[in-house]
Amino acid sequence: MVSTAPQEFDIPLSTGAVLSDSPFEEIPASHVVDVGDLEGDPAIAFRRTMGMFATGVTVLTTIRDGQVHGMTANAFMSVSLNPPLVLVSIDRRAKMLSMLHEGSPLGVSVLAERQSMESNFFAGRPVEAYEPSFELIRDIPLVGGALAQVAGRVVRSYWGGDHSLFLVRVEAARYGEGKPLLFHGGRYERILQNEAVLAALPPELLTAITSRGVERTFAEGDVLMALGETSDEMMLVLEGQVLIERPDRRLELGPGAIVGEIEVLDPGKGRLATITAVTSVRCLVVTRDAFREALTEEPGAALALVEILASRFRDS
Ligand code: FAD
Repeated sequence: MVSTAPQEFDIPLSTGAVLSDSPFEEIPASHVVDVGDLEGDPAIAFRRTMGMFATGVTVLTTIRDGQVHGMTANAFMSVSLNPPLVLVSIDRRAKMLSMLHEGSPLGVSVLAERQSMESNFFAGRPVEAYEPSFELIRDIPLVGGALAQVAGRVVRSYWGGDHSLFLVRVEAARYGEGKPLLFHGGRYERILQNEAVLAALPPELLTAITSRGVERTFAEGDVLMALGETSDEMMLVLEGQVLIERPDRRLELGPGAIVGEIEVLDPGKGRLATITAVTSVRCLVVTRDAFREALTEEPGAALALVEILASRFRDS
């Protein structure tokens, strides 16, 4: 029996000549999107509109001539279960694009919530001391520690304006336990555990911290901060208990506690307390620069912080 491709598969392929040199003959003319009352450049308003669609974050990986290449992408979707197909959309300026052809291996690693550093790294953003590590499934590279991984080969590409769309036939799939890193409105977001406790924080302040924080875990007995040391980091406790020891006071705090914020606002001065993990602890760490940027962008967050500091001052 001869199998024929369904009619919709007859559409012409990428103008980027990725899989075929057949041109895309009916490229829609570019036009300005009607953005109603939204202010500013319509192209930016359109981009922001699309940013309201919350996604996970993936790192796409391929290997060519023995060299692994990775890039961060959120334009990823599951397409078909049988045959197993997924789709990714890649900017035509990306280095990745020139590495993909029919049959190219492509790994998709769905990042876990603690992997915003990996996301930044593979988007070419500056990150501190990160060494990428890859693992192979069927000789296809994937990012280690990811929440889910699919490995496959490119079977088709399609014209997608200033992006190209790649259809990938999946050969292997793996997933583990955990929560995903999310992307919404141009920022990272998280599905917060202990929501009820964290909800006690003003939402503007919570967003400022969760969108810029990088997750760090501590084992029982680890010192999160030591009295007198200088540092430019503050932390939001997500899970576990910490012991705060000041010369005049000891107290234990749990999820929702913000620690180290005074030192972040008062640079160059030493820590006011030693903070130790009583249990294993999961925190979001925000640097002074990231926090200042958040407070500048969102005055509501600055106000919320002042209110928290004022109530602590009154309590003490
Ligand atoms: P480069 O910019 O050269 O590579 C990316 C970075 O990874 C570089 O710093 C490079 O040094 C490093 N790197 C790659 N491989 C290795 C390796 N083997 N060892 C060490 N370092 C390595 N763009 C899209 O086209 N589609 C999307 O859907 C998309 N979604 C995004 C979602 C998010 C949340 C973010 C932050 C960015 C997204 N981008 C997307 C933008 C995209 O990630 C960047 O434009 C990226 O820089 C494109 O990668 P590139 O292939 O051009 O390679």
